[in-house]
Amino acid sequence: MTTLNGVAVHGHHIDGRERPSADGRTFEVRNPANGTLIAHVAEGGAADVALAIGAADAAFADGRWSRMTVRDRHRILNRFADAIEAVLPDLATLESTCVGRPLREMRAQLGRIPEFYRYFAAVARTAEDAVTPFEGSYLNYVRRVPLGVVGQLTPWNHPLLILTKKLAPALAAGNAVVVKPSELTPLTTLVLAQIAHDAGIPDGIFNVVTGFGAEAGAALCTDRRVRKLDLTGGTETGRVVAKLAGENLVRVTCELGGKAPVIVLPDADLDRAAAGATFAAFIASGQTCVAGTRVLVHESQADALVERMVRRARTIGIGDPLDLATQLGPLVSRPQLERTERYVEIGRVEGATVACGGRRPDGVHASGYFYEPTIFTNVRAEMRIAQDEIFGPVTCVLTYRDLDEAVQIANGIQFGLAASIWTGDAARAMKLAQRLECGIIWINDHHRIDPSLPWGGMKDSGMGRETGLEGYREYTQTKSVIVNLDDPVDWYATNEVVRLS
Ligand code: NDP
Repeated sequence: MTTLNGVAVHGHHIDGRERPSADGRTFEVRNPANGTLIAHVAEGGAADVALAIGAADAAFADGRWSRMTVRDRHRILNRFADAIEAVLPDLATLESTCVGRPLREMRAQLGRIPEFYRYFAAVARTAEDAVTPFEGSYLNYVRRVPLGVVGQLTPWNHPLLILTKKLAPALAAGNAVVVKPSELTPLTTLVLAQIAHDAGIPDGIFNVVTGFGAEAGAALCTDRRVRKLDLTGGTETGRVVAKLAGENLVRVTCELGGKAPVIVLPDADLDRAAAGATFAAFIASGQTCVAGTRVLVHESQADALVERMVRRARTIGIGDPLDLATQLGPLVSRPQLERTERYVEIGRVEGATVACGGRRPDGVHASGYFYEPTIFTNVRAEMRIAQDEIFGPVTCVLTYRDLDEAVQIANGIQFGLAASIWTGDAARAMKLAQRLECGIIWINDHHRIDPSLPWGGMKDSGMGRETGLEGYREYTQTKSVIVNLDDPVDWYATNEVVRLS
């Protein structure tokens, strides 16, 4: 690592070492809480992506990782998990500085990360292959093998967690990876690559090319040596990436936008539901694909719930993300702040009421992208604020008359990622869960994750699943080996009539 005017300059991580871009370009990474320059980072182009894919391809082909015994791969991934754990406080501080999320949130989120590597190491170590009921005197055994070079495109909202959900199964299954992190938050991904290297993950197996989606991301998506693309990002980017994957006939997993309903049933404890609804909406300043941003409440309880939510929202402490007392940091960038401001204006014009928030807060750094937690009431399901993913600290309260109407509102949207149901009646909630068109449903909670959970959405929220056994399988392909246990038939030496059934 070099410096420029006292600020660090980071290169890509290719084939186990740091490299500048082929043409020497760099871009700036800034702190969203105060605008200060954190680092200069290599701006990758097609040549850098090709170099990384070449390194990954060679590393995969010579079997240094893909054909390593699964016992050794398991051991190295556990060592990687231990090494991450040892530097978690530093990783959390760096992630918080780049993303703007409060350190207390970052610590809670990153504390889960080592588990993912341990879980997928164990999945690979304990994976059992199948023998199918093949007709006749044959044995057909099915092996799962890695795909080869895989490309991962990650966003800025949870850089390390989202990368880990993709990287842990990919590495455990024996693939070689090239990651293109968001240009807003590439630093922790680069640090993770160095930790992986030091933990013994062979050179060329985990490569990072920093840069922009339109250039470095596009180069990764179009290279025919890449056997799978895995994106977390916006729905429009998902369409672009899935189309490119289709052209190259490679696998694709897309984890895209969402607008989760938070369904409060009439029997719910309203204090708990209000706490849940504010947690669902305002964690990460609402910049999360599963943010609960449509609160559905029975019309008779709306005022009581809103009053409780507003009271809670007004006490959320906004400020410096690195202060452990801070509960809400800035948005990640000026475009995200402007998008939030634009949608709040759209909501006002549409006739919704701002019950709280709806403005930038006082008493914070003038160059930071802060926005107050905002609750809209008098929202109709067809309004844009109730249909579009805002990706800011903005939630809408909608009312329903009966359960059928609640289901209709919950499902009446392009997205189908997540939902939560708040109730004292678990059986009722489980029946309701059956009717919701989404991939993840929490009952009396929101945002909870686990490495074992298949994560992903229906409809425009994406395709494929991350994590869990399904996520692991999506980083493998099957190979059937059919063994004839008898003498082989000499097909052309006999005129015997073949039975048709
Ligand atoms: P993007 O979908 O643009 O970015 C996700 C990743 O894909 C980034 O690494 C990005 O690179 C890359 N990328 C972008 N365009 C291309 C392309 N044409 N080919 C290959 N890779 C590409 O998300 P944004 O950061 O722009 O956010 C836009 C909106 O997306 C948000 O407002 C939000 O609604 C949604 N979003 C959803 C997320 C989720 O968790 N599901 C996460 C982030 C965003 P780069 O950043 O360098 O452009």
